[in-house]
Amino acid sequence: MSFKVNRRTFIQTLTAAAAVSAVGTPFLALGANKKVVVIGGGTGGATAAKYLRLADSSIEVTLIEPNKDYYTCYLSNEVLGGNRKMDSIKFGYEGLKKHGVKVVYDYVTGIDAKAKKVTTKGGQRFDYDRCIVAPGISMRYDTIEGYNEAVSKDIVHAWKAGPQTVTLRKQLTDMKDGGTFVLVAPPNPFRCPPGPYERASQIADYFKRKKPKSKIIILDAKSKFSKQGLFIQGWEKLYGYGTDNSMIEWRPGPDATVNKLDAKAMTVHNAFDDIKADVLNIIPAQKAGNIAKTAGLTNDKGWCPIALDTFESTIHKNIHVIGDASIAKGMPKSGYAANSEAKVCAAAVAAMLNNTEVGSPSYINTCYSVVGKDYGISVAAVYKLAKDKSKIIKVSGGLTPKDASAEMHKREVGYAHSWFNNITDDIFG
Ligand SMILES: Cc1cc2nc3c(=O)[nH]c(=O)nc-3n(C[C@H](O)[C@H](O)[C@H](O)COP(=O)(O)OP(=O)(O)OC[C@H]3O[C@@H](n4cnc5c(N)ncnc54)[C@H](O)[C@@H]3O)c2cc1C
Repeated sequence: MSFKVNRRTFIQTLTAAAAVSAVGTPFLALGANKKVVVIGGGTGGATAAKYLRLADSSIEVTLIEPNKDYYTCYLSNEVLGGNRKMDSIKFGYEGLKKHGVKVVYDYVTGIDAKAKKVTTKGGQRFDYDRCIVAPGISMRYDTIEGYNEAVSKDIVHAWKAGPQTVTLRKQLTDMKDGGTFVLVAPPNPFRCPPGPYERASQIADYFKRKKPKSKIIILDAKSKFSKQGLFIQGWEKLYGYGTDNSMIEWRPGPDATVNKLDAKAMTVHNAFDDIKADVLNIIPAQKAGNIAKTAGLTNDKGWCPIALDTFESTIHKNIHVIGDASIAKGMPKSGYAANSEAKVCAAAVAAMLNNTEVGSPSYINTCYSVVGKDYGISVAAVYKLAKDKSKIIKVSGGLTPKDASAEMHKREVGYAHSWFNNITDDIFG
């Protein structure tokens, strides 16, 4: 049977898949024994594994991930604010197994691009026809003197949700009223551009309810940030931003860049000041997850260059990189972007394995931020590939209007929560 997978038929296929998978019958039988290994069962990797099986159930898809549970970073800031429990951001891989994905709990230590083999810490080896690499990010601890992985166990980044989210929440609940929470925001490019500012907002929401004499200082190497106007408007409304009594202080620009940490004294240093914290949250500069470098997939800045229609590495053939680790020029490093890239990549990989045409993709992203009680904001965009394929360009989109009513801000919170339910079901269901 021959079947041409272009974008239109891929979407039809997915619809058919949704209908057929309910009764557990494979709906397509393309090729035979094509093997795809997916590295990383986070947002990008889990989506790609599932959608590959939906596109072509004859492809053997093996997903390798060290953890049995995945905690979403999205809405983990609500956990820090005390508005959500850890359990609600925890997901397992039973749903993927039902789609026929082989899930292996192990850590990938090497990819041999020539021999098309993946090796793991547990001593396993996997052959592949194509490999999809989705390892997320790793931290550049060395950009701040005195900061390293060992220190980050106490002075956490909590930029990968899980145990560090729990630690930071406990530090915040243990902090005295009147204490200072210092958040060191990372330089560009980094995972989730509005994330640090949503985190400050959620913690301000908690302080407002439980520790109203406390303060938040954001030390930021950047001079501007995502949804800045909307965040500041929310902070003015909810936390007295701009007044002498503001709960949040944002110190931006190159001189605010933190270059040194004295962990014992809980003090960070920048060009101006020594800033002492009661709770310190350092989110360092970032790069692609370590395996990307080990496998020789990164450029000199630590990120993975790729073709934007297939997400195939421009360094190693037959290996695709998606999600935060990739340089998806024009798209933010977000969960929704990783989910969208994974679908484009899955369609391309299915097409390439079946020697059919790779479609011309479109991509989507929306980022919601919950700034406080009944107060949400968002940015949304639909993208397509530029004609010369050099970048992904926005074709439409928008922000929460500046003159949004209280009702609209409240509705944005509802949209944020329903987006979370939908995307996690799309990835893991
Ligand atoms: C506080 C915060 C809030 C956020 N809020 C939002 C939001 O509201 N909306 C949004 O769209 N995005 C949000 N994001 C961003 C989003 O979480 C990331 O962009 C998204 O998780 C990227 O997906 P990924 O697949 O690239 O990486 P991840 O989801 O991190 O997945 C990587 C996976 O790879 C695994 N892995 C790593 N190395 C190996 C290896 N060698 N072998 C096997 N497995 C490996 C890891 O265990 C992990 O499971 C937020 C991020 C943060 C930090």
